[in-house]
Amino acid sequence: MKNKLIRGVPASPGIVIGKAVRYGSEKLKGSKVQEFKGSMVKGDEVQKFESALDTVRRELELIREDFLSRTDEHHARILDAELLVLEDETLMKNTIDGIKKGASAIESFKASMDQALKGFDRVKDEYIRERVADIRDVAERILHSLKGQSRKLSLRKEKHILVATDLVPSDTAMLDKKIVTGFATDLGGETSHTSIMARALKIPAVVGLKEITKFIETGEEIIIDGNHGVVVIDPDERTRRAYEKRIREFQEYERELLSLASLPCKTIDGHSIELACNIEIPEELDAALDYGASGVGLMRTEFLYLEKLPGEEEQCKTYSSFAKKIYPHSLIIRTLDIGGDKLIGLGLNPTPTSEIRDANPFLGWRGIRFSLGRQDIFIAQLKAILRANKQGNVKLLFPMIGGVREVLEAKSCVEEAKAQLSREGKTYRKNIEIGVMIEVPSAALIAGAIAKEVDFLSIGSNDLTQYTLACDRGNIKVQDYYNPLHPAVLKLIKRTIDAAHSVRKWVGCCGELGNHPLALPILIGLGIDELSVAPLYLLEVKKNIRALSMDEARIIANEVLSLETEEGVKRYVKEMKKKIPVIREIMEKYEE
Ligand code: PEP
Ligand code: MG
Repeated sequence: MKNKLIRGVPASPGIVIGKAVRYGSEKLKGSKVQEFKGSMVKGDEVQKFESALDTVRRELELIREDFLSRTDEHHARILDAELLVLEDETLMKNTIDGIKKGASAIESFKASMDQALKGFDRVKDEYIRERVADIRDVAERILHSLKGQSRKLSLRKEKHILVATDLVPSDTAMLDKKIVTGFATDLGGETSHTSIMARALKIPAVVGLKEITKFIETGEEIIIDGNHGVVVIDPDERTRRAYEKRIREFQEYERELLSLASLPCKTIDGHSIELACNIEIPEELDAALDYGASGVGLMRTEFLYLEKLPGEEEQCKTYSSFAKKIYPHSLIIRTLDIGGDKLIGLGLNPTPTSEIRDANPFLGWRGIRFSLGRQDIFIAQLKAILRANKQGNVKLLFPMIGGVREVLEAKSCVEEAKAQLSREGKTYRKNIEIGVMIEVPSAALIAGAIAKEVDFLSIGSNDLTQYTLACDRGNIKVQDYYNPLHPAVLKLIKRTIDAAHSVRKWVGCCGELGNHPLALPILIGLGIDELSVAPLYLLEVKKNIRALSMDEARIIANEVLSLETEEGVKRYVKEMKKKIPVIREIMEKYEE
């Protein structure tokens, strides 16, 4: 089908053009039959089951080792979650009980698995569905092993783009970028382990394409645009040339931006802005360093809680390695922001525990509210953060603060964490800077009172926008209402910045607004001290800051803040475009 464009979910950035190979599920699942030899006693189904578990464990350990040699420990941990399924006591006990009652190992394991995953197919939450897919991956391996087969991905040897219905994490882990230059799948989402692994392996990928396997034939040319989540099948000459140009432009633009990494982040009239990075997954830390970030302005810690509750030691190790890597710059660690759209499975079994299932999650037991309610979890995290502050470059940040009460309670938990560490004879620095996210309108309205209690404020414009405008930030039906440049949001931001400055505290912005090209002159003109953006945007933001003048920014901020309507702000922004060359350049890119 000439030039067919299909949109999916951008899973891993980059653009590639190449020949597609469509893999049917039987190919991906492998069919190399191996007879079990040695220890297996025929007829003893329990032993057969145990031997199958050992085989799968060995397979997964080898895959993990290989994947680790090409990526890093954090990503390799994805496979630990699969290995842990093999230790699931209930699953193992139920299978063995079934065998003892007369079922074969295969029948009993299938029944136990069905029982364990009952009801999950109907779960809508993408995160939970993806974790269930991981468990099914291991279950498939065990079943193959019980049938005397080895589940092995059998790939072609020549360079190609892989197209399949789905890819399980243990298969993705085995992909070699020199052979598989990109991939596209019918299923999968941005948070699936397959997507995370593709990013770690730097293989451009688009997932969630629904029916791509129906439209593509092996040998056809295909374009994978992992930046925009687009796939083009059998591109015509014009499209191919356009994409080749995009690849060149992308490389050139990257080169141009990279040359800015070591330059200071100052407006043309010499006003300095701290430009830090937001880190959501560990791989972003390297990018932050490569792009010359002045620190980590927001380290989201939810990734540590994806599979299970992390202990103090594990967290301490992770935070310490981050702090060491970014030193002498600062690492601002935000405590767990569970809830809202960040539902996570606490524990290996991805059951959404009833504790964190709210009818209205964004207004429910989220962020600091959860932490104050589960102080066992909170204090373990605080202890780990305090211990990681060996060089004194770690700062603490609390999410979802609504008023002074939560700040005081959270601060007393920090004291409790310190007391526990002292009792346990563990070393930590007594002084640690504490900051608060301003992302709930009530907090913005009393930002002065909050700022007095802490060392700095960080505006979470994503949540501040959704809570101010009563507009779910992830709901596509109300996306036209979600406008961070709404006069009400801008007024709350101004109020926050002024309040922090009036008590001599610095204030940053770590929400997406920091990389919203048109918000940049407004934030700078209002006097923001720091911006923290995703690594991907860091150099672009620096480029724009270096082209702005503080005087101009102040005028723009003043004028915008006097406007009362969204339309007024929009009109003004259009005017800015005509008046100021840098804004015009930014706008043109933005409108593309
Ligand atoms: C925000 O709300 O702006 C923010 C940075 O936090 P998150 O997006 O993680 O909720
Ligand atoms: Mg937030």
